Amino acid sequence: MEELLYRSTRSDDSKVTASYAILKGLAEDGGLYVPERFPRLDVSMEELSKMTYQQVAYEVMKLFLTDYTEEELKYCISHAYDSKFDTEVIAPLVRADDAYCLELYHGKTIAFKDMALSILPYLMTIAARKNNVKNEIVILTATSGDTGKAALAGFADVPGTKIIVFYPKDGVSPVQERQMVTQKGDNTFVVGIHGNFDDAQTGVKKMFSDEKLREELDRSGFQFSSANSINIGRLVPQIVYYVYSYAVLEANGEIKDGDPINVAVPTGNFGNILAAFYAKQIGVPIRKLLCASNRNKVLYDFFSTGVYDRNREFYVTSSPSMDILISSNLERLIYQIAGGSAQKTAKLMKELTASGRYTIDEDMRKQLKDFYGNYASEEDTAKAIHDTYAAGYVIDTHTAVAASIWRRYRDETGDRTPTVIASTASPFKFARSVMTAINPQIGDKTEFELIDELSRVSGREEPQAVRELRTAPIRHKTECDVDQMEKTVKDWLAVE
Ligand SMILES: *Cc1c(COP(=O)(O)O)cnc(C)c1O
Repeated sequence: MEELLYRSTRSDDSKVTASYAILKGLAEDGGLYVPERFPRLDVSMEELSKMTYQQVAYEVMKLFLTDYTEEELKYCISHAYDSKFDTEVIAPLVRADDAYCLELYHGKTIAFKDMALSILPYLMTIAARKNNVKNEIVILTATSGDTGKAALAGFADVPGTKIIVFYPKDGVSPVQERQMVTQKGDNTFVVGIHGNFDDAQTGVKKMFSDEKLREELDRSGFQFSSANSINIGRLVPQIVYYVYSYAVLEANGEIKDGDPINVAVPTGNFGNILAAFYAKQIGVPIRKLLCASNRNKVLYDFFSTGVYDRNREFYVTSSPSMDILISSNLERLIYQIAGGSAQKTAKLMKELTASGRYTIDEDMRKQLKDFYGNYASEEDTAKAIHDTYAAGYVIDTHTAVAASIWRRYRDETGDRTPTVIASTASPFKFARSVMTAINPQIGDKTEFELIDELSRVSGREEPQAVRELRTAPIRHKTECDVDQMEKTVKDWLAVE
């Protein structure tokens, strides 16, 4: 296999191996690591259509992570995608209301981030070994709800690692918060900040690029790494399920080899949909990428005007994992449509930091034609849940945003291309919003009563992850102000 190296989106300086990029998370210049070129799938879709999820994962990941041996990759894959998932197929593709829902929520925390975060700790500890790291790795994460728990669950009690998660104290669902504050593991630390997700993410990014802090940590035997969706160790495992879903459609005779599909992705930080875009680059026949936003429609505005502008009101919605005004992974798409110009990308990202906005030029805009962006209001989202329920299938609020945009796209364009909707969370994780959409008269019930009700109307058993929450003790109570994040980290690690 020809070696594939990674470079920063913001400078041409150096190229690094995949394992190094996974270990570092973010490049030193603040840019994101991108592959220097796109590999191509070297097995046919027909062959892939006969494979298990784990086998497809190997065929995709070996193309991107070329400094891992076959044995190492297979070790990571078999330990990540095992009985932690409540279904052998890992990511079931379910036909619902004329589309195909790719259920990415059968892992430990019943949301799609498990797909990547169950494998990242394995990729990362092997990366540490490969790069002769002696320090203990401290995973530093900002979460809008789901990443945090999925990262905690992935890294809990993994030797040689610690994990610190910051979440917006009033910006996540009760179930999401409970999942995090009950996290077990002596190496885990969960902090609620008095701010929103962007504040949390900005604070974390600042710590990553703080040279002085880096030295202080190093002296105490620690170094930061990131489990956020900017890490290529998150991105690469996400490419897998787009390849897999195409292979499953082909295996089931829903499409013929080479037929195009569309994908609809509920989008926040732009990681999941970027993985679909990467899947297209390696050879999956994807026609349109439907980028679905909620009321925080910064991406819709970007796709329709070429202006990215985060200076706007921030809304807390029923799809909190998409309540984001700075979609970090968009930088990788910017780099791509800038023809791989680090200089151009760096300039735009500098503008974003300085003024909160940037404008792409006409040449760049022309290259966005694979994407269709739109957004769903809270009413649209509730309606999509209600309509899909009427068609016999229950979806969560995030998936509903994508379902709503898919319907609108189909009505606007008449495009009947078979569409895979990335179903990113179990409806049980957002029982209140889901049940209220199904039955607005639901009234004053507790979260767990609503979960029981949801179980009844959907005919689905409540997932293990929810059952555990009913009795789990609260282990994390730390809160802090936005400007106290660094101090909170140093105190916990006992770094002077
Ligand atoms: C994180 C998340 C999203 C958004 O995914 P991005 O990769 O950040 O765009 C959508 N839905 C759910 C349930 C999530 O947890």
